[in-house]
Order: sequence, then C-alpha cells, then structure tokens
Amino acid sequence: MLTIAEPSRTTPVAHEADICVIGGSCTGVFAAVRAARLGASVAIVELGGFFGGVATAGLVNVWHSLKDIHDERQIIGGLTQETIDRLHRRAAVEFGTSPHAAYFLNTEELKIELDNLITEANVRPFLHARFVTPAVVDGRLDAVIVEDKSGRRAIRAKYFVDATGDGDLIYRIGLPTRFLGDIQPPTACCIIEGLGKIEEANPGFKLNEAVFNPEFPEALKLGFLWAAWVAGSRDMKMVAGTRVANADCSDADQLTAAEMEGRRQIRAMVDILRNHFSRGGEVFLRGVPSYIGIRETRHAKCLHSVAEMELLTGHAFEDTIGCGTYHVDVHHSEKPGLTFRNLDGTEEWVVPGRPPVRGRWRPESDDTPPFYQFPYRSLVPEGGKNVLVAGRLIDCDRGAYGALRVMVNCNQTGEAAGVASVLALAENSTVADVNFARLRQTMRDGGSLL
Ligand SMILES: Cc1cc2nc3c(=O)[nH]c(=O)nc-3n(C[C@H](O)[C@H](O)[C@H](O)COP(=O)(O)OP(=O)(O)OC[C@H]3O[C@@H](n4cnc5c(N)ncnc54)[C@H](O)[C@@H]3O)c2cc1C
Repeated sequence: MLTIAEPSRTTPVAHEADICVIGGSCTGVFAAVRAARLGASVAIVELGGFFGGVATAGLVNVWHSLKDIHDERQIIGGLTQETIDRLHRRAAVEFGTSPHAAYFLNTEELKIELDNLITEANVRPFLHARFVTPAVVDGRLDAVIVEDKSGRRAIRAKYFVDATGDGDLIYRIGLPTRFLGDIQPPTACCIIEGLGKIEEANPGFKLNEAVFNPEFPEALKLGFLWAAWVAGSRDMKMVAGTRVANADCSDADQLTAAEMEGRRQIRAMVDILRNHFSRGGEVFLRGVPSYIGIRETRHAKCLHSVAEMELLTGHAFEDTIGCGTYHVDVHHSEKPGLTFRNLDGTEEWVVPGRPPVRGRWRPESDDTPPFYQFPYRSLVPEGGKNVLVAGRLIDCDRGAYGALRVMVNCNQTGEAAGVASVLALAENSTVADVNFARLRQTMRDGGSLL
C-alpha cells in the first residue's frame, strides 16, 4: 500500500474527566448520564451535531415493549422509561397497540430531550467530534484523540465506554473484535409524505409489496420493508425498505458506497409511488438519514458471549444487567426477508408478498420464559482494563444479536456501562473486577428494573 509519513506532533488536552463515552446514541448518552448522576465527571464525544445515533441520524422511530411477553410485568425501566415520559410530556411519543411496536417517537424532539439529559447531568458534550485514535500509556488507555472544528484535541479520562456501534475505540486500541459471519444489511430509512392519501386512493395497497413488485421497472431487489407513522401524522411514514446487501460499513469505502446506494433505492421507492399509485395525489420525500442505518459490523470479544439459546430459554445470569422480550429478528443478506424466533418456541420466515413460513425452533412446552436477560460480562472486552463496550458491539452469537440489537436493549447496556465505570473508579479496579451484586443494586437504585 502506498503510504506517506506524517510529522509527529503534540496534541493539546481539551478536557479531563473521570469517564469518557465515545458515541452519542441513546446508548452513549444513557451511559454518560447514569455515570454523571452518580457523581462522576463525564465527557461524551459524538461525531454528529446531535445525539441519538440510529434513532435520530438514522430516522428509526420505534422502541419496543418494556413489558414481559404477557404484556403484564414491566421489565425495562431506567432512562428508557424516563425518556418516554419526557417525550410524552412534549406530546412527542405515541403508544402502539402491538407489544412489538410499543412506542413511536418523534425523533426530532428526541434530539432536544437528549440535549436536556446531558445538560442537566452536567456532562461535557463534544459534538461534531470524531474519535480518531487512542493514546495508550503502560498498557492502559489514557486519552482519546478527537478531531473537531478546533483541530486535533485529546480528552483524558480514567475509564472509557465505546458506544460507537462499530467499535472504533476498541478496534484502534487493538482489543479483540470479530464479525459474526453474514452481516445484517444496512438500510437507509426515509420519511415519505402522501402515504395516507395513497392508501385511501388504492384499496388494498401494501407498501411492503409495492416496492418489490417485479412488474415495476423501478422495483427494489426482494428484501424486507416496514414502515411506521411519524408521530403526530397520518400521512407521513418513516419507511425502512432499502437494503444494501453484504456492505461492511466499518470499511470507509463500503460505507460511502452504501450511503449512495441507499439513497438510490429511496429514490426508486418514491418513483414507484409517484408513477404507479399516486393517481394525482402528491408524494414527497421529506427526509433522508444523515447517516445510513447500520444494523451490524464488528462485535467486541468479551468475557462472555451471549448465546441465542441462553436468551430464548430465559437463562438467568448472576451479572444480569438488562432484560428484554424483543424476539430474535435476523435480516438476511443472503436471501430475502427475515427470520423471527420467539420465546414461546415459534419461528417464522417472512418475505414480502409471500405467505410466512411458520415452524418451531423447539417443541411445545409449558416452559416459556416471560422475558430474557443479558449479562455484564458481555460488555467487558478481553484485555480491556479501563474500557467497556455498550450497544450493538455486545458480544453474542448471530441469533442472540437478532434480539439484543434493538434500542431498548442497547439502552440498558449503556446504563450498565456507565454505572460500572463509576464503581470501577471508586474501587480503582479494572472493569472486569466490578462486583456484580453491587452493580445490579446501583443500577436498581437509579431506576433500572433487574
Ligand atoms: C434500518 C434499521 C432499523 C432498525 N429498526 C429498529 C427498531 O424499529 N427498533 C429498535 O429498537 N431498533 C431498531 N434497529 C436497531 C437499532 O436501531 C440499533 O441496533 C441500535 O440503535 C444500535 O445502537 P448503538 O448505540 O450501538 O449504535 P448507533 O445507534 O449506531 O450509535 C453509534 C453512535 O456513535 C457515533 N460514532 C460512531 N463512530 C464514532 C466516532 N469514531 N467518533 C465519535 N462518534 C462516533 C455515531 O455517530 C452514533 O451516534 C434498527 C436498525 C436499523 C439499521
């Protein structure tokens, strides 16, 4: 490979904190806020101009159920519940009827609410700031170097949380990461106006069949599409229908290509609606994401890798830091559609326009667990003395990832990483030595339901 030599340089320290979180989705924000509420000084670095990650930059506006599969006992609380309550006070969340699509968020209001959480907790924000390289001293991460409008600056901290989704921090430190094989494809979501009128004018119209209909020259390659009303509107939908197969978005060139291919597919969807269904009604493209929605790239290699069967059988861990019910949901790259596997033993392969293929992943029994659990050790990277991961970086197998990747679960990993960093700070210990019982109790004291 052709290379150039850069001159060596010294870098000014912009800020010193107890804990520094890299990546400002809800996962990262919740990590920072939980740590700050326990008295730590905290900084957060986000490459965009606002917080929220896939929920805001990616336009994905659905949070799943906070209750068990019987829709009775609440199993997720903490900052997820608090944020829903805050959005509710702004008339910025709608409550769904299906347990799998429980909350439709106004993601523009979410951006402002996350600012408020950061400000009220006195977290030092760095926006438009990209983590570029770590500074490791005597085998321990001492600082992160960021590039922002002011140039290249260092943020020193005692503990760090990698909430970048792609594991930029752990990867560049040299901690072990891995891919789980067939990467779940990225999707450029969009907001389309005029869909309510199209539904009225075309009885039986199904968006998730229309865009893949091979009779239309603009048709997308058969994949999967779902859509949700934008909170407060009955004519505008957030549409997740594009799919860029086999794109590894942790690779800069593949990310660039995926962004442009995603937008090309969005244009094709709008053209299908305009050319074949609008019947004089107007269809408008109202929003494209500022960052393509990345389902999956690297995973951290941690002290525990969560197995699909641990989740689906409701295994209880001594270090459980989160609970969930969202089913295993694997978007295929190698074939159309997606596969669901449920706690009750059923499974389904769903492809638009075809009847679902239903079966069971286990025989019928009375042993259906009401929810699943995931452990702290799946956030503790092998060899990472003062670094934790949170969010979709979690160590797990492919099936478990199909469930754990949703935001209500990622949010809990962020809260756990924030609380654990403070406990490690108090004990001057490695993140692996955090006492599980104390972690769980401190999380409960801060509102988590464990
Ligand atoms: C199309 C699509 C639809 C989905 N649908 C749903 C759904 O309906 N409901 C649901 O709950 N989940 C859904 N998911 C899954 C879920 O949204 C993600 O798995 C989850 O948001 C991942 O959270 P995260 O915090 O790990 O990563 P992200 O949300 O990707 O956040 C990572 C953050 O880190 C920042 N960052 C990255 N690198 C750097 C760097 N070097 N320096 C500084 N900052 C950096 C990014 O800007 C971003 O803000 C969907 C995902 C996709 C892609």
